Amino acid sequence: MERLQKVIAQAGVTSRRKAEQLILEGKVKVNGETVRTLGTKVSQSDKIEVEGIPLEREEKVYYLFYKPRRVISTVSDDKGRKTVSDYFRDAGARVYPVGRLDYDTSGLLVVTNDGEFANLLMHPRFEIDKTYIARISGIPSRQELKQLEKGIRLKDGMTAPARAKLLSMDKRKKKAIVQLTIHEGRNRQVRRMFEHLGYPVEKLRREAYGMLTLKGLNAGEKRELTPHEVKTLR
Ligand code: URA
Repeated sequence: MERLQKVIAQAGVTSRRKAEQLILEGKVKVNGETVRTLGTKVSQSDKIEVEGIPLEREEKVYYLFYKPRRVISTVSDDKGRKTVSDYFRDAGARVYPVGRLDYDTSGLLVVTNDGEFANLLMHPRFEIDKTYIARISGIPSRQELKQLEKGIRLKDGMTAPARAKLLSMDKRKKKAIVQLTIHEGRNRQVRRMFEHLGYPVEKLRREAYGMLTLKGLNAGEKRELTPHEVKTLR
């Protein structure tokens, strides 16, 4: 048995707080009866309606996916490009990625049908560390690496403290591989941070998300998260 507002939020309809509001407003029915009491417990077999629409209650699934480059992180694409969903046709559930990676960025995505879990992870308050490996054109100085760590003034504000490490460099080709760990998730943030310093990102991969890593996976592969991993992320 689970609390009604939690079940509604988990179905991805809305947040738990808004679900509570809907219950208080008399917009939720359980087995045809309007329920206005918060915390009402429901079982898997109870039929729930939110604003007249039956709630679809799928079993929750959680995956770690290694997104290849040139795959779009949305469920569908009007330009007919390959999407993350194309890799989850066999998952038996309508899943979607938690957050996004650029079309040209590869790497780790958490994919789930648990809307509440997804909202939680994406909330800035959670500050989940995301580690990227960037191949950049140019070789940053020690001072510039420090600047990446302290904060870069982008057009949408200063970036939060980060960690930057030069992994390797090729002086002849003037290229470097830098590991950057950030906990924000602004649009194209890593690319913009390097661009600000004058180093275009040629290749970008997300290597880690919290304690999750790509270990053991090739691009295009996925695995289910263990219950322990799901619990630790929450
Ligand atoms: N930062 C970027 O610039 N691109 C991504 O896909 C993720 C983080």
